[in-house]
Amino acid sequence: MIGETTGSGVPLCSLCREPAIVFQRHSGRHLCGRHFTAEVEQRVADTIKKRNLIVAGDRVAVALSGGKDSTALLLILSRLLTCWQDVRLVAITIDEGIAGYREETVNSAEQLTRRLGIEHHCISFSELFGDSLDTFLKGREPQACSICGILRKKGLVSGAHRIGATKLATGHNLDDEAQSVLMNVFRGDLSRLCRNSGVDSSGKFVPRIKPLSLVSEKEIAQYLILHDAWTELPECPYTRYAMRREVRSLLSGFEYRHPGTMLHLIESRHKIEVACTGSVISEPLRSCRGCGDPSSGEFCQVCLLRRSLGK
Ligand code: SF4
Ligand code: ZN
Repeated sequence: MIGETTGSGVPLCSLCREPAIVFQRHSGRHLCGRHFTAEVEQRVADTIKKRNLIVAGDRVAVALSGGKDSTALLLILSRLLTCWQDVRLVAITIDEGIAGYREETVNSAEQLTRRLGIEHHCISFSELFGDSLDTFLKGREPQACSICGILRKKGLVSGAHRIGATKLATGHNLDDEAQSVLMNVFRGDLSRLCRNSGVDSSGKFVPRIKPLSLVSEKEIAQYLILHDAWTELPECPYTRYAMRREVRSLLSGFEYRHPGTMLHLIESRHKIEVACTGSVISEPLRSCRGCGDPSSGEFCQVCLLRRSLGK
């Protein structure tokens, strides 16, 4: 939809009549850089406020991989924090040990935290689990993302505990969240579907928060370009094994043809969560018999995995 334009045909911002840089399909508005930034940051602030994700006194550990989402998360939180008193940001990077990929993203994370003056901790899989992901994956490459995901989550939680964080913020965006809904449905994993949203607090975990859960991947890219924080980084060599990749392409086609699909998926998850409250699907977590961490079964995923890896 094109409203008024400049002499050279560039649409004008619907709010201030400066040249627009984006068209938001969900709101039907053209926005200039300033109004686009303000709208995205306000949406993140509203998500935080509505779900009580961050409160006064919090020490928020941002899971900073150095990729696009976590870079945008740290940038946005550091800008929003100028108006929040008594909240401190710290960044944690997990170096899984993926040759030809992780070095550059770790470097990018270091540069960003230096630029923003934010405390930064980098923890490696070797330090946490005794070896690199590359070593664990020899002969198990097709399981790369599930093994990586289980161990990285454990690493972030240990890191957050170690530095005394009260919240662990991850850069999951709208696309990631919608993809997760679909993947859990495809796998028939309703209990994970119900445990996946909002604040994940079982009393023992540092609660995980997802402040970008209503910001799309495309908006994150636009935000980074506008704020001079866009970096071309290599792709993880194991991405080709990821089911998420197929779901991502399926869903982005749907979103393009039927705007709002991703938001509707997230709303569906919320309705399922509400409907399942108190049922066997949303049973509270118990303590793992191996390590004592919260677990849905007798042993947590990390203990089961370490046993199968012989670690
Ligand atoms: Fe880990 Fe898979 Fe992401 Fe690579 S693509 S970093 S293996 S989750
Ligand atoms: Zn404007």
